[in-house]
Amino acid sequence: DSVFNHVVRAPEDPILGVTVAYNKDTSPNKLNLGVGAYRTEEGKPLVLSVVRQAEQSLVNDPSRVKEYLPIIGLAEFNKLSAKLICGADSPAIQENRVTTVQCLSGTGSLRVGGEFLARHYHERTIYIPQPTWGNHPKVFTLAGLSVKYYRYYDPGTRGLDFQGLLEDLGSAPSGAVVLLHACAHNPTGVDPTVEQWEQIRQLMRSKQLLPFFDSAYQGFASGSLDADAQSVRMFVADGGECLVAQSYAKNMGLYGERVGALSIVCKTSDVAGKVESQLKLVIRPMYSNPPLHGASIVATILRDKDMYNEWTIELKAMADRIISMRHQLFEALKTRGTPGDWSHIIKQIGMFTFTGLNSEQVAFMRQEYHIYMTSDGRISMAGLSSRTVPHLADAIHAAVT
Ligand code: PMP
Repeated sequence: DSVFNHVVRAPEDPILGVTVAYNKDTSPNKLNLGVGAYRTEEGKPLVLSVVRQAEQSLVNDPSRVKEYLPIIGLAEFNKLSAKLICGADSPAIQENRVTTVQCLSGTGSLRVGGEFLARHYHERTIYIPQPTWGNHPKVFTLAGLSVKYYRYYDPGTRGLDFQGLLEDLGSAPSGAVVLLHACAHNPTGVDPTVEQWEQIRQLMRSKQLLPFFDSAYQGFASGSLDADAQSVRMFVADGGECLVAQSYAKNMGLYGERVGALSIVCKTSDVAGKVESQLKLVIRPMYSNPPLHGASIVATILRDKDMYNEWTIELKAMADRIISMRHQLFEALKTRGTPGDWSHIIKQIGMFTFTGLNSEQVAFMRQEYHIYMTSDGRISMAGLSSRTVPHLADAIHAAVT
């Protein structure tokens, strides 16, 4: 007779629950392609060597203490993060009209941004792509915004539904917030081209739609930090306002350190200062101030020219391994003569392939081949290796024939 007797058991998280099921599987051939975390060719988690180096230098510095950070986090980290996403020579940064606050990875940055908008922005509706990362609707709803969808993916072409996207944003109320994946759209791996981004930008600016970028994969998609920031930089360059949530989970492999940043690009430095003062009021009662260690690692790497260069090399190696997995899987299906067009595997961008497999096929592959993925048929390419590609190709072949 607990006072909590009435509490009903909640379902597992649709993404993290895949790992729970995987962990219970005793097959030696089991393969987890559910969660988006990088694995080496040997299937092991990777700590970047430049991260180890930065941690070593932090540990060896006796002047480092464990005091609280300010509410908005480590100042140098914030400055360097804004530069990383906007570009080192960004006029918006030089003009001091970007406010950046350190947050709990990408998720925390989205949540703080959402709460700020719900309190201080005139239009409470946020449009998110259909489909999108499963946490987006929950984060923004709980932040106090009203969530609507815009068309994004066309299952017929396994590509962008560009016409649908333009129509839906075109009929959104003036001023609405629009969530955009900066690159490597999750779960589809389908991104607009630069020309399409330009059209989206023109439409959004003409309707005063407010862009909120989710940048969880900068550098991780193409291997280039600049190329993967291009969409954001187009919107910053036009002088208009936008929000950007950055995560260092993937591109520095700092998943569990929970390090990220929210930047709000404003029209003037006076507005940016006032916005920052209100961000503090959002953060203080939520978690008071962010953790020190991850942000110190990032700042150590970003401030040092040699470490920064080493990071870009390790980052490119991760991106390249993922791209190579795409080619290997595509070739393996071709070799097997698996029915259907699988070219989307090599066309899609980033960590995930949106296979097009339906939930019955996904269940079949889990049952018969011990391969785990989300029920929408999304697989993490980073969880694959040359050794496991044949097993996956066999399973896909069996599932569709
Ligand atoms: N946005 C997208 C699109 C993501 O895929 C993820 C990670 N799966 C995140 C945000 C946030 O991740 P984190 O909070 O670990 O930085």
